Amino acid sequence: MRHSFRVVIVIGVPGVGKTTVLSHLEKLASAEGLRVSIVNFGSYMLDTAVKEGVVENRDQLRRLPLRTQLKLQRIAARRIIEDASKRLGEDGYLVVDTHALVKTPAGYWPGLPRHVLEELKPDLIAIIEASPEEIHSRQLRDKGRYRKDIGGVEGIKELMERARIASIASSIFYASTVAIIVNREGQAEAAATELLEFMKNL
Ligand code: ATP
Ligand code: AMP
Ligand code: MG
Repeated sequence: MRHSFRVVIVIGVPGVGKTTVLSHLEKLASAEGLRVSIVNFGSYMLDTAVKEGVVENRDQLRRLPLRTQLKLQRIAARRIIEDASKRLGEDGYLVVDTHALVKTPAGYWPGLPRHVLEELKPDLIAIIEASPEEIHSRQLRDKGRYRKDIGGVEGIKELMERARIASIASSIFYASTVAIIVNREGQAEAAATELLEFMKNL
């Protein structure tokens, strides 16, 4: 039911601040001498997709044909665990920056379906949230990314509600706990501190 290291999955709608919170988590954990490996699921998918010449950036992944996304998702989950198994022992934490639900032109699609969970075997699924208005303004400020396809404040609200449901559904396969952490404006480090507390109790 579990890897020897703890597995923490971090999800949340695009632009809520997952990657930002995890950059704080990395510093907090290393200051406490904890062995934490933070990986981005989308970066693993992007690596294969770029080699195959099907995309140029990460925000194009969710608009690929669904069969292609499924293949990339499968390869990414396997490689993440292969790499973590080489790096981490019993006292380590693998933290995966990812999505419970992906908004694609073919419909809402699970980021954590059974085949992914069978690789990751998560101890914890942490949902990062903020108000839809704050998330929307973060998306607009972050010029380096394309997130218009999420659909503004209404689209964010809808995806947030469904991502909670998808997280709970995913949690039943490996008896993972589910935690909701609010990433308040200007308070990403506080969100990382809260996440670390959940992790220490696993
Ligand atoms: P994606 O799923 O698309 O990768 P993400 O959840 O990883 O998105 P980030 O890239 O971490 O989101 O953050 C999006 C933007 O919001 C960035 O410009 C970041 O600096 C900003 N941001 C993150 N957290 C906060 C916060 N607590 N307060 C204000 N701005 C924030
Ligand atoms: P991110 O940088 O977190 O936005 O990830 C980039 C892209 O990778 C996302 O927009 C999705 O298209 C894809 N992605 C990330 N995690 C998953 C997952 N678990 N399943 C399917 N696609 C994913
Ligand atoms: Mg990110």
